[in-house]
This record gives sequence, structure tokens and C-alpha cells, in this order.
Amino acid sequence: MDSSKSDYQSWLASYRARLKKIVDAATADSIIESFAATKTTSFRVNGIKSTPQAALDALSQAEVQTNPVAWCDEAFTVSPDQRESLSHSSLASEGHIYIQGLSSIFATLVLEPQPDQWNLDLAAAPGGKASHIADLMNNQGKLSVVEPIRKRMYRLADNLNRLGVTIQKTYLMDGRKAGGKVPDRFDCVLLDAPCSGDSRIRADKPDSWKFWSPRKVKEQSRKQKGLIESAFQSTKPGGTLVYCTCSLSPEENELQVDHLLRNQTDADLSPIEVPFSNWQPGLTRWEDAQLDKRLMQCVRILPNQEFDSFFIAKIRKRDD
Ligand code: SAM
Repeated sequence: MDSSKSDYQSWLASYRARLKKIVDAATADSIIESFAATKTTSFRVNGIKSTPQAALDALSQAEVQTNPVAWCDEAFTVSPDQRESLSHSSLASEGHIYIQGLSSIFATLVLEPQPDQWNLDLAAAPGGKASHIADLMNNQGKLSVVEPIRKRMYRLADNLNRLGVTIQKTYLMDGRKAGGKVPDRFDCVLLDAPCSGDSRIRADKPDSWKFWSPRKVKEQSRKQKGLIESAFQSTKPGGTLVYCTCSLSPEENELQVDHLLRNQTDADLSPIEVPFSNWQPGLTRWEDAQLDKRLMQCVRILPNQEFDSFFIAKIRKRDD
């Protein structure tokens, strides 16, 4: 065994032990198998510039074979050997389509943004979900997008421009400050929080699994606490906040939402209808702590060949 394989095996032993506290043993094993599986590539047709029919016609001329996604008319997958042709197609470079994971596409659908609202994406770069929000708003209304890292903010701005989004205002700032600056402002808020990134783990990419550590989970969960408080504060009464991460760790997911529910009496959870089977409800117990029972309404997406690891909570700010 070469050294990177044996390093991976020893990293995996502690990762697996922890994962088995979150999901049952068989599910933990299938999650770990997904780290080595070849993934399909998915994309979303950008309704601001195209239609599913026009995009599919152009792709079929370029001999790219697409498969529909049953729960989203704008989403499609291609087999791994076609990823290259898809990402180099003029449709991608001209912003008619956006290559995006299915879990990520689903998270934005859960938010249900509507035209003519004033919405916020609080951790927005590189802009996959922000551009999807704008698309669902028919590019009408207002969309504020926040990103604190300058280089990533430029990439976000480029992507939104390429995709034809015109309703955005971009802010280079720490999302933890937004709630204090603009309380009770937005109809829909998306917080796709920076996280320890279980979804990035690939067995053959040492950087991806070396990035994940219990220390990283702790570090990110401290930041997420400030971000979720700020996101909720900036949501208007009657509005919706979707909190999501691509982490499987309860500290970054259920514990964040539990903290919010305990401290904000006007916070409540809405159910999420999930049109696929690889998911589990949120945990209501973690280690020795009993958590809020409403957390069962959260969704932990389990990774497989098509989906990445994800956690989604749909939070309502009551206006009564
Ligand atoms: N929503 C994006 C998309 O779909 O393309 C992906 C967002 S990524 C998971 C998290 C983003 O949060 C990163 O771009 C990161 O730079 C940003 N971030 C990190 N710290 C932040 C903070 N304090 N406030 C706001 N955003 C932050």
C-alpha cells in the first residue's frame, strides 16, 4: 500500500467511528463507499437565458447525452465521461446552463423565492445558488448577495453577470454583521454556510479528506453560530430562512438550528417535502444532549453517485 492510501485508511478509521454516531453502520459504510465512486455530473438550465428544450437541443447537437431529473424540470445529469464536453460547451461558457450538484439545486428550491421579493444570499460565492434564486425570481425584484473574501466576490460577480442576473447588489462583508445592519428586511434568506465540507471528500484526493477534521468542525461551528443569528435577524417576520451546509456533522447542523430555536421564540421549522429517497430526518439527540423535537423536520441528504452530502433546515420567522 502506498503512503497516501495508508494515510487515507487511518484517517477513515476515525472518520467512520464518528459517522456511526450520526447514522447507522450500514449507512455509514455506503457514505464511505460514495467517496470512491465515480459521480455523475448534474446541471441546471438557466431560465434567464434559455429553456430546457433549447439547451437540450444544443447539447444533443454537440453529442452530449442528458438524463432528466424527475423532481426538477430544469435539472439534468450526464454520465462521468461526458463531463468534459459539458463543461467545455458554449452553453456553459455563455451561462445558458450552470453545472451544479443536485443537493445544491434542491436546497434553493426549498427556499421557494418569488418574483418581486427582496431576498438575501448571505454566503454567496461562487453564486450557484444565488443565480438559481434570481432565476426563480424571474430576474425581478431585489437580490442582495454577501461574500467576505474579495477574490471569491469577483468570481461571484463574474458568474452572476455571465448568467444574465441583473437584480443583484453585491456586498463585500462579513455576513455576521448583516442582521444588525438590516434587521427584519428580507422575504427569503439563504445561508449556505461555510463548513467542514464532507461533500468534498474524495478518496483519491488527499487534500479533500485532509481538510476535514474534528478541529475544522469546531472552528466552522463557531462561525456558523454568528452567521445563523445574523441571517435570522435579517429575515422579515413571515419570511423564510433556509440554513444549509454540505457537512454531515450535527455540531454544524442540528446544534446550530437547536440554538436558534431555543433563543428566538419567533423561530419555527417548516416541513420539507423530499422527492427522493436518500435522506434522513434531522437528529433530536446528539451525544448526551436532548435536542428540540422539531429538528425532525430538517433533512440530511446522504451522498451517493448523484447527490452530495447536505443538510437543510427551513426556518420560518413567525409574524404573530
Ligand atoms: N452558496 C454558494 C453557491 O451555491 O455557489 C456556496 C457558498 S460556500 C458553501 C460558503 C461561502 O461562505 C464561501 O464563499 C465563503 O468564502 C463564505 N464565507 C466564509 N465566511 C463568511 C462570513 N463570515 N460571512 C459570509 N460568508 C462567508
